Amino acid sequence: MKDYIAKAMTLSGQVRIYAAVTTNTVEKARNLHNMNHTPTVALGRVLTGIALMSQTLKDERHSITVQIKGDGPLKGIVAVTNAKAGVRGYVYNPAIDLPLNEKGKFDVKAAVGKGYLNVIKDIGLKEPYIGCVDLVSGEIAEDLTYYYAYSEQIPTAFNLGVLIGRDGTVEAAGGYFIQLLPGASDDIISKIEKSIFSHEPVTTLIHKGKTPEDIINMLFPDDDTIEFFDNCSVKYKCYCSKERMERNLLSLGRKDLQEIAEDEKGAELQCHFCNSKYHFSKDELLSLLKSQ
Ligand SMILES: [Zn+2]
Repeated sequence: MKDYIAKAMTLSGQVRIYAAVTTNTVEKARNLHNMNHTPTVALGRVLTGIALMSQTLKDERHSITVQIKGDGPLKGIVAVTNAKAGVRGYVYNPAIDLPLNEKGKFDVKAAVGKGYLNVIKDIGLKEPYIGCVDLVSGEIAEDLTYYYAYSEQIPTAFNLGVLIGRDGTVEAAGGYFIQLLPGASDDIISKIEKSIFSHEPVTTLIHKGKTPEDIINMLFPDDDTIEFFDNCSVKYKCYCSKERMERNLLSLGRKDLQEIAEDEKGAELQCHFCNSKYHFSKDELLSLLKSQ
């Protein structure tokens, strides 16, 4: 199955639900960053969450960045999406691994630790919108749920999962995102909660071959008002270029740039998101300095 997001309105337009399969995207990230199991699950949940969030953006040029900083051994996670669920991301410490938690699951909470979550939305304004919340769980889905409740004041539920196979590759990844629209009645929340907890884990469903549409239909089995919209494919996509790296170098400031330019061999910069390398010769660095 290709990675994509199905989108629908349910319960007579009171609820928005997006469901995603992201198995290939998360496997690409694992492969690219050579990540161990727990970091793969942590980044996979964030990439799935941000892909779902991307569908709330109204303009193609807009983007969302999620930054998580924690005191656990993973240290942090960064993920970025464009409005079309083109996602990229990395963790600070891809090599760590931890024992499974008491439920026999990958211990993302312990890997992340305590800290905070930033959501930066570039929606074409002069300054980006930045929302910051403390991590309430470290398991990612709960933290994104809390971000929406606290920072955007929209009742939202996330369910995000990554299933790792025996060989360490990603066998299934995906999730869903349910949001109450203004005017939704209170009994809807309890209805949704009941439905969420009556199902198998989302990765089990995906592993069995259920599509995002199947998941939406399963969550709202008695609802004959479900209205589906166009799907959106999900991809791992990096937009780095030599020009972007130049801007990064310039943003370091004159003193640091001068120091780098002293090296006869020049400098090699690596993109955090896709590991592409960019070489700058001493001459190029000196002319950057001059242009500053
Ligand atoms: Zn890149």
